[in-house]
Amino acid sequence: LQIKMTHLERLNLVGQMAAGIAHEIRNPMTTVRGYLQLLGNRLEYQEQRSTFELMIEELDRANMIITDFLSIAKNSTGERYNQNINQVMRHLYPLLEADTYSQNKKIVFEEGEIPDILINPEEISQLILNLCRNGVEAMEVGGTITIRTYVEDAHVVFSVADEGGGIHSEYLDKLGTPFFTTKESGTGLGLSTCYNIADRHNARIDIESSANGTTFFVRFPRVIKNQ
Ligand code: ADP
Ligand code: MG
Repeated sequence: LQIKMTHLERLNLVGQMAAGIAHEIRNPMTTVRGYLQLLGNRLEYQEQRSTFELMIEELDRANMIITDFLSIAKNSTGERYNQNINQVMRHLYPLLEADTYSQNKKIVFEEGEIPDILINPEEISQLILNLCRNGVEAMEVGGTITIRTYVEDAHVVFSVADEGGGIHSEYLDKLGTPFFTTKESGTGLGLSTCYNIADRHNARIDIESSANGTTFFVRFPRVIKNQ
């Protein structure tokens, strides 16, 4: 029996294999991370401990890249719950605050009154983290990231504003294309993941950017149909 595959089917298969491999790589990484933490804690000198912390941070970075990649490859939504985006944001806040504080940057959450909507909280966390991380990375020295939630017409809006240098207009079209990055050690997977997650929630992403900063708006319909 010979199975003929179209170009698209073959691409799809490669994608599935890549996603499978990415998934399998995570398990050994988790083991290594656990032992690094264990060994690092036993060390006597701060200098040695810092090396272990660095190794763990690098593993976490690799893990984040895999998370983004898997999210793009998966292309289907996980289970959704009637939840409030404010709650997801409050949960992430300490993590984001620690991240920005260490770089002399600030993060402000202006929490508005918004209704619960059908979301997959893990995916929404990933979307929030990716947008905030980009905002932080866009600001070279200090600055504030302002996160807002509010209702606007038929939408629940989540916005992230930074005080970075803005996005060059010639790049605007390319944003969200997998692997498009202008950073030396960027992956170009962050925004692509965000657009995918937004799509799956029937949400729209709009960008306002100037030399004084960039704001990403994620507009969710107040009523999201469960697929
Ligand atoms: P990465 O962060 O790894 O470069 P992303 O997909 O997250 O990948 O972002 C792609 C590109 O979009 C970035 O390299 C940067 O040029 C641009 N970008 C995204 N967010 C911002 C922002 N808040 N300010 C300025 N540029 C941004
Ligand atoms: Mg990014």
